[in-house]
Amino acid sequence: MRDDNCIFCKIANGDIPSKTIYEDDEFRVILDLGPATKGHALILPKDHYANLYELPDVVAGKVLKLAKKMAIQMTKKLGCDGFNIVQNNGEVAGQTVFHFHMHLIPRYSDDNQQIGWKPIESTQEELEEIKNKILGNVDIVEE
Ligand code: AMP
Ligand code: ZN
Repeated sequence: MRDDNCIFCKIANGDIPSKTIYEDDEFRVILDLGPATKGHALILPKDHYANLYELPDVVAGKVLKLAKKMAIQMTKKLGCDGFNIVQNNGEVAGQTVFHFHMHLIPRYSDDNQQIGWKPIESTQEELEEIKNKILGNVDIVEE
């Protein structure tokens, strides 16, 4: 399940070289070319899924397990002070490469980096309305 026009398919499957820090049958973990901090890495499945919505449950489970393993190893080796795990879906959410990937971002007390959002105001009524919208309009289905 590869997409011939997808750069991350090529990288994940070794057709384009990368700084690989982990590989198994299903995943490759590479260093990001435009890192937010030292050691910023990406988990790439070798199969093509455009985003989280397309990711099969079994792959999704393995991704988080691998993220945990990498975070532990990287924290130990890099001596970082914290860790962000980020995963963008859709252009509006900051996704630029449409092959599912998970960012592993080591954080250092002096890294001067900002990863986050500015909170907006929300009343209890608005929160209740959103809660009802999610519960009422979205089918949460098991695969
Ligand atoms: P996103 O914005 O969540 O889609 O993340 C895409 C990430 O891929 C960015 O952090 C880019 O720096 C990174 N990136 C794009 N092309 C490459 C590449 N050829 N090798 C490594 N990282 C890349
Ligand atoms: Zn792909």
